[in-house]
Amino acid sequence: MITTKFGGTSLADGQRFAMVRSILAMDDRRRFIVVSAPGKRHPEDVKITDQLYRCHEAARSGGDVAAVFQPIAQRFREIIRELGLALDLEDEFKFTLWVMERGAGQAFCASRGEYFSGRIMAAYLNLPFVDPAQCVFFDDHGQFDGEMAQQSLSARLSGLDGAVMPGFYGGTPDGAVATFSRGGSDISGAILARATGAEVYENWTDVSGILAADPRIVANPQSIKSMTYREVRELAYLGATVLHEDAIYPVKMAGIPVNIRNTMCPEDNGTWIVAESDAPAGAITGIAGRLGYSAIQVEKERSNTEVGYCRKILSCLERNGVPFEHLATGIGSVSLVAPTALLMAHRESLLHDIHEAVHPDTLQIIDGLAMIAVVGRGMAGRKQVAGQLFSAVGQAGVSVRLIDQGTKELNIVLGVEESDYAKAMNAIYHGFFPNA
Ligand code: ASP
Repeated sequence: MITTKFGGTSLADGQRFAMVRSILAMDDRRRFIVVSAPGKRHPEDVKITDQLYRCHEAARSGGDVAAVFQPIAQRFREIIRELGLALDLEDEFKFTLWVMERGAGQAFCASRGEYFSGRIMAAYLNLPFVDPAQCVFFDDHGQFDGEMAQQSLSARLSGLDGAVMPGFYGGTPDGAVATFSRGGSDISGAILARATGAEVYENWTDVSGILAADPRIVANPQSIKSMTYREVRELAYLGATVLHEDAIYPVKMAGIPVNIRNTMCPEDNGTWIVAESDAPAGAITGIAGRLGYSAIQVEKERSNTEVGYCRKILSCLERNGVPFEHLATGIGSVSLVAPTALLMAHRESLLHDIHEAVHPDTLQIIDGLAMIAVVGRGMAGRKQVAGQLFSAVGQAGVSVRLIDQGTKELNIVLGVEESDYAKAMNAIYHGFFPNA
């Protein structure tokens, strides 16, 4: 049996609901379905979830909630009409508006996109509707409770041969609605896959799999055929956003492979995400990157012989509440990389504390860095990868400000000037995928 999850662009209007039904009809193992809220129909359109957050904002600031809610209800009415369904959700629309106007919580407001989308899909496919508010549990602090959800969802599904469940939300012990972070329907799909013991978790979206590089930076990057759970996490960390990173955990636990597919091109195989890939690994699997980093550079002669030197620096970060993502050391120098936005409020006190703690020869914060992660299980033990990587960026005239290599030889992270970011990404991509 296969669990499928359809994202917002796959459900943007009636026609796309119909495409979903034809995809399901292609394989009768596709019986458990998770849906997102309708997304954008065209680039200028607004996602239903964004409109719902605006409803909550309007209610909070004493604005006109009905004016924001009406176009939402109208989009759902249109989908029902386009599909020719006899479903009548008018009373529920009225009730939803009524509670929103009376101060319903943000999570409840945001969750209604998935809720109505699920109600319509269940009616359209003639399958039972499973409301996650009653079986996907979050604790009192709004933290998702994986084991509890596994038990209650399995109990709720027992005896069912198929079902439609809205993604993105669940319920708390006091009966309120809680949501995952944005894009969280991917997590709901993974939870449902685990609870149903699915053989595959198919995640249907608007691209034919995970791309080897960001298409906004590199023209037409190829899609990755097969990769491991671990590689997805490494790429997601620096910005590859096809799958929510928390969606990996439930399927990894249960050893369920994930297949990312394109609703608009169902014949494409997409990307397979598995525990151990037996597909031949290229030198690298993919590249991801992000702007907006700063490096705190501390230099002091003979610090390499000073016991506890790094700990003193790190405790200054801890005291100032600044997390760091990379640490690179040289002889007598330590460089700590953190997102600039998180450093902002603490710059002066952090510099002051480090001065006091280790009396460095020089201490500075360098802004405007971009971090690039080059990821691939094929890097382990392959000697030429680093050489190929540095010659690619070197030939493009990019100077590397910082290097950090993960212990598992699964990634190399480079820090470059933001102005060199696109040049470096393209050089690396074309260096490793010469035929692309
Ligand atoms: N609709 C939610 C969002 O826009 C959740 C999802 O689509 O996965 O973030």
